[in-house]
Amino acid sequence: MWSPSARFSLLALLAIAVPATIVALLGYISIRQWEKSSELLYREQARDMAAMAAAKVEMMLRHEEDAFLNRLQAALDADGPSARAVGEVLDHSPLVRRLYLVTRRGELLFPKAWKEGDAAVIGPLVAEATQGKLERGSKREVVAGHRVCLALLTGRRGEPVLAAFIRDTEVLRREIFETALGALESPTIFTVVDHEGRAVYSRAPVGDAQPILSVTFRETLPDWRLAVYQTADAAPRRAVRRQVMLFTGAYGVLLLVIIAGIVATWRLTRRETEMARLKSDFVANVSHDLKTPLSVIRMFGETLDMGRVTDEGGRREYYRVITRESERLSRLIDNVLDFSRIESGRQTYRTAPTAVEPLIRSTLEAFAYPLAQHGFKVDVDVPADLPEGSMDADAVGQALANLIDNAIKYSGDERALAVTVRVVDGRLAITVADRGVGIAAPEHARIFEKFYRVGRSDTQGRRGSGVGLALVRHIAEAHGGDVIVESAPGEGSRFTLRLPLAGRRDG
Ligand code: ADP
Repeated sequence: MWSPSARFSLLALLAIAVPATIVALLGYISIRQWEKSSELLYREQARDMAAMAAAKVEMMLRHEEDAFLNRLQAALDADGPSARAVGEVLDHSPLVRRLYLVTRRGELLFPKAWKEGDAAVIGPLVAEATQGKLERGSKREVVAGHRVCLALLTGRRGEPVLAAFIRDTEVLRREIFETALGALESPTIFTVVDHEGRAVYSRAPVGDAQPILSVTFRETLPDWRLAVYQTADAAPRRAVRRQVMLFTGAYGVLLLVIIAGIVATWRLTRRETEMARLKSDFVANVSHDLKTPLSVIRMFGETLDMGRVTDEGGRREYYRVITRESERLSRLIDNVLDFSRIESGRQTYRTAPTAVEPLIRSTLEAFAYPLAQHGFKVDVDVPADLPEGSMDADAVGQALANLIDNAIKYSGDERALAVTVRVVDGRLAITVADRGVGIAAPEHARIFEKFYRVGRSDTQGRRGSGVGLALVRHIAEAHGGDVIVESAPGEGSRFTLRLPLAGRRDG
């Protein structure tokens, strides 16, 4: 079932996940709206800009043509439609490519003859216009593939003279469009498209820019359009995307940090709960371990006291059991006391050059009875010329005793114990090997933790406090050494204590 800490962490996670999801959802919705409205705003601005630009083009064009017509009228007033006077006006009006002056009856006053089939195009236009549609000074463009403008002027005697002129597209492009549109400060591209859809002028190469809208010119360039293209860089969607990415990134990092914090707290609380459970197990285990030898001692002592054991052999056996049990008792008490000293940081070690073999023999001696009783085959392999180690003999003896005790406690059908000592890489390596139940690899690191006991059916029946290996590791590390385990279930275990040699202690 869920522990209170797990429940709390889950609640905390929910308390953050729910508002975080709502924030993300709201953020998403408002970003979509923002994207839409920025697109709309951008289009509106582009349309305003285009309308302004178109108006500017028209204004300039009208201004140029008005000036031309005024000059022409002045020439007519002074000189009539003379080739010289009109030619002079034309020389100063590059925008006008060809000019025809026609009477109301359709007689050509200037030049002498129609050019390049203009008669066919301009003739009907003039005929239509002379039926009184044009007023003085007004002009309009007539489409038919030609940019023909008509204007009504007056001759010297006040008679109406129709001026029909064709614009020079190149000059129009250079003088009008370039001047009006070239200087505009805008990230968009303006393109002038003629009545046949041809681009007459473009402020920049269109490339892969997207057309977004077009506006028409009014009277001066009917059927021509000013098209607006949007480059990918200027797209408002892109700016919004950048913001969205930034927001999402920051939001993601925030969420990750929060989740990592919760997970860390969760782990910590779970560990603490586990530690509390291990501690209470420890108390129960230690109490049980104390009680067992005590009741054996008491029972055997009472039996002896009552004189119930009459033969000498039996009495000796009883005494041995009492001695063995009291040894177990003091080992247990030593372990617990040392452990509490280590926990409170009061444990100290006094190292001195120590011969290893006698230490191993005396430690094994303490286990002589249980080893013999369980029929253990004991092997001790210590080289004769083994150098001394630098160690606290009592502490290392206790570590060895814990390892041997475990080897007996966790033995299987095959009862064998081997203690081997070697010098490896300038260090003493004392190995205690058994052929017992073994330990699965995932447990190898954990068995050295305080209070930790492997919870498996083949080890569960064997009492213990869970501090034995924690002590072994502490002792090894306090000597500047370490302890390693090699083991697999069913194949026995090898614990190796690695300790410094005398005179070369490091770490
Ligand atoms: P305990 O008091 O339980 O023996 P230890 O710290 O000495 O505590 O050992 C921790 C756990 O490691 C034991 O509970 C046991 O499961 C496992 N263990 C230790 N030594 C051996 C061994 N030689 N063979 C199999 N398992 C072992």
